[in-house]
Amino acid sequence: MTTIHTTESNADPAELARFNNLASRWWDENSEFRPLHRINPHRLEWIDRLVQLADKQVLDVGCGGGILAEAMARRGAKVTGIDLADKPLQIAQWHAQAQNVDVHYAKSSAETWAEGWAEGWAERLAEPHAGHYDVITCMEMLEHVPSPAAVIQACAKMVKPGGWVFFSTINRNPLSFALAIVAIEYIMRILPQGTHQYARFIKPTELLAMANASGLELQDKHGLGYNPLTQRFRLHGFMGVGYLLAMQKPLQAKFQA
Ligand code: SAH
Repeated sequence: MTTIHTTESNADPAELARFNNLASRWWDENSEFRPLHRINPHRLEWIDRLVQLADKQVLDVGCGGGILAEAMARRGAKVTGIDLADKPLQIAQWHAQAQNVDVHYAKSSAETWAEGWAEGWAERLAEPHAGHYDVITCMEMLEHVPSPAAVIQACAKMVKPGGWVFFSTINRNPLSFALAIVAIEYIMRILPQGTHQYARFIKPTELLAMANASGLELQDKHGLGYNPLTQRFRLHGFMGVGYLLAMQKPLQAKFQA
């Protein structure tokens, strides 16, 4: 067994176990992952419109079974997906191969990937991943980690000056508790009970403050709307429950001016 340097302290083993247990159904559009399948075309269009994905170097942090990673690769991006759960990564790899889509997957956290490490690698990369990516996506993941700030900081480190980082997560307020936990997990049972923990939800102001502290600037934002009657998602202006932020790392020139 290769000894590796990674100390993945910023990961919750219970969260990773939950995703491992569900992994076989990742690409079943009628499973627990239905919401991710349903929101995917909307977030993909939004990202592509802002960055023109074709030929871009993209990192998808917390990629899971690869729903977004694969879709970005189909748009011509050179995509690497990282995650700390084994089974979703395996599924992602199989699926990409079966679909003949070129995506590179590795088991790593954002923090260790930034330093040039992944599990199974005996040696660190000669060139770590700092300043390496045109685009980084970190979607529906921050609400599953103990310290989102550390993940955000690692993303900010890995993106090139002028590059983009996209985050999506769930707001923390009584409405998001009622909808994202009570309704989705207990009443409609779209997601299994325990999928989300209220205390890990993040207010947009908090996410923005963490991203700003890491040197990223806000470029665009949207709320994620869900209509239970039509079961459709859409991007809209209300950020009270799910939401997405597009951040950009300023070009060096800006500081030098
Ligand atoms: N981003 C994907 C999947 C979201 S599910 C999408 O939106 O389609 C959340 C994913 O985050 C799971 O695959 C889980 O294993 C992963 N994850 C949780 N904690 C992590 C950590 N600390 N580092 C990397 N991935 C993590």
